[in-house]
Amino acid sequence: MIIYCNLMPARFNGYTVGPVILIRPSKRGDAGLLAHEKVHVAQFWRTLGIGPLLSLFIPSLRLQYEVEAYRKQLEFNPGSALYFAGFISTKYGLSISVTDALKLLL
Ligand SMILES: [Zn+2]
Repeated sequence: MIIYCNLMPARFNGYTVGPVILIRPSKRGDAGLLAHEKVHVAQFWRTLGIGPLLSLFIPSLRLQYEVEAYRKQLEFNPGSALYFAGFISTKYGLSISVTDALKLLL
């Protein structure tokens, strides 16, 4: 289920809660962003809902999930690896440099 709304943390343009994807109306049509959020829905289902919940408390799992999602998004935006690495480094409460995040994405 996809809901176009602004009910999410200000630092994100998309957000997934369980199987529900929230996308800012201004980002409607951003296929890469939608693909990113669909990866999080897949993570939800393949762990029977437990993985995303655990990732809130386990930074290494959160990093693993975001790297997987941004790799998918990169398929739609192949020139954005550095940009996405910056997001991983700054928006998820992870202790990782942009350089190290970039290495994980490529
Ligand atoms: Zn994500």
